[in-house]
Amino acid sequence: NSTTSQYDIKKYKTPTGSQLTCKGWVQEAALRMLLNNLDPAVAERPDDLIVYGGRGKAARNFEALDMIIQSLKDLNDNETLLIQSGKPVGILQTHPNAPRVLISNSQLVPKWATWQHFDELERKGLMMYGQMTAGSWIYIGSQGIVQGTYETYAAAANKHFGGSLKGTLNVTAGLGGMGGAQPLAITMNEGVALVAEVEEWRIDKRIETKYLDVKMTSIDAAIDRALKAKEKGEILSIGVLCNAVHLLQRLVERNIVPDTLTDQTSAHDPLIGYWPHEISYEQAKVLREQNADQYIEYAYNSMYRHVQLMLELQQKGAITFDYGNNIRARAQEKGLKNAFDFPGFVPAYIRPLFCEGKGPFRWAALSGDPHDIAVTDDVIGSMFPENTSLQRWLKLAKEKIAFQGLPARICWLGQGEREKAGLAFNELVRSGKVKAPIVIGRDHLDTGSVASPNRETESMPDGSDAVADWPILNALVNTAGGASWVSLHHGGGVGMGYSIHAGMVIVADGTEEAALRLGRVLRNDPGMGVIRHADAGYDVAKETSIKFDLDLRKRFH
Ligand code: NAD
Repeated sequence: NSTTSQYDIKKYKTPTGSQLTCKGWVQEAALRMLLNNLDPAVAERPDDLIVYGGRGKAARNFEALDMIIQSLKDLNDNETLLIQSGKPVGILQTHPNAPRVLISNSQLVPKWATWQHFDELERKGLMMYGQMTAGSWIYIGSQGIVQGTYETYAAAANKHFGGSLKGTLNVTAGLGGMGGAQPLAITMNEGVALVAEVEEWRIDKRIETKYLDVKMTSIDAAIDRALKAKEKGEILSIGVLCNAVHLLQRLVERNIVPDTLTDQTSAHDPLIGYWPHEISYEQAKVLREQNADQYIEYAYNSMYRHVQLMLELQQKGAITFDYGNNIRARAQEKGLKNAFDFPGFVPAYIRPLFCEGKGPFRWAALSGDPHDIAVTDDVIGSMFPENTSLQRWLKLAKEKIAFQGLPARICWLGQGEREKAGLAFNELVRSGKVKAPIVIGRDHLDTGSVASPNRETESMPDGSDAVADWPILNALVNTAGGASWVSLHHGGGVGMGYSIHAGMVIVADGTEEAALRLGRVLRNDPGMGVIRHADAGYDVAKETSIKFDLDLRKRFH
């Protein structure tokens, strides 16, 4: 019996090097990235198959995981493996240029798309929550989000503080898989970060991976230390072991107004992701097991209070934004009428980038050799010398980012740039300058791949926030173009009922066929975003679509 009910570090070790364990590099890439997602250096809770983001999983259960591994090893170049919410359900005939894996995660018919219904199905073993890159096997640890978070804080620094966060106090909460990137992104922008976190092991983990500088257990002492650093223009991040509500309450009591304020607790998932403040951590753990309904009520009370405190500090002058965890909607569901008085980070800072097809392009070295990433860093650096923020990021990333699992890199690239980079990587593989193929993917939080009205598509100028045709077309066109694996998810980032989004991964294995696929997919994928934003009325997107021949009217002119 090959099934286990626990993560077995030896059995699930990610293969590295240039020898295949599957029948082709695309299958091999899927296998390595799946196992890499679950590597204890990468995943938040491998024993539960949870990668990040509350309960974002890579496979439904250990039996499914074992069957996926077996299937990938057996999969031929003219076959496609189908994954239904983390469980392999079939291998069908396709062709060499088709995706080797097609994934659908957490999809529910809209009327049933609630956590309550999902929880029932999950308890029966019928579903799994895929989050974004967890269930689509392209999570690369916290680095993935560091860059996006770095971009957001850099944009905030440009907009409000003359280009740097030096001498500013930046308050937030949550040091999980994604939230753990916040302190590093803030210090990379030269500011002071004060971050509330309930679980001590999370704080320790961020310190170990150099994302966080210090741990403190007293709220007042942590506030004092942060204020001193702010005054001196010191660059420092502090993780304080407490509930976010208690930290914000204390700031209000002491009349201390942060310069920026946000939150990255897993508020999208009231049962598994958010810790209530009125009971202790230990009590909460027991209650969650024994009385889920009561737990959820406590969590909602806390989220109401949490947002209320954020609004209070915003009133006093803190630049406040929602960081994509849907906490505003939770507070509103509980009756807080003005919960949406502070904006989401996408309309505030990221949308202009999306209009140029820019988004979180990432890649990993299947060899496992960090030198391969150094080679790709050099190529990217020399390919886009005029892109100063990219150059600054690459330099900082090399100095500050500790790799987790397979060595990987992320940087935001736009229309035109992504295909150029993909083809250059394919050439590195072909010419043997790297030791094994490079796998290229992205977050689902991207320009053309998501409909999420409280996050990525908040406040679209034409009111099309909830139109989900776009991510569906994105998944279809990436399948047609020949991505290596394509996924379509529901509920990522913001929870059940709130989002539909698609992922894609493509392997640069050095072959000519791969070059053709890379050219197509890495043009079409961001192209969907340019088209979507042009359609919504953004001028920059319209110009970008004309420049890159994506505009229909220009074609028939
Ligand atoms: P995670 O579940 O790994 O971590 C959440 C952390 O918050 C945990 O460490 C938990 O202990 C802590 N926490 C929960 N309630 C708390 C409270 N009341 N006070 C203090 N700490 C508390 O999740 P993650 O991967 O870090 O993601 C966090 C949230 O950010 C999710 O809702 C996710 O959907 C969202 N997210 C945003 C982006 C973005 O680009 N903005 C991207 C991905 C995820």
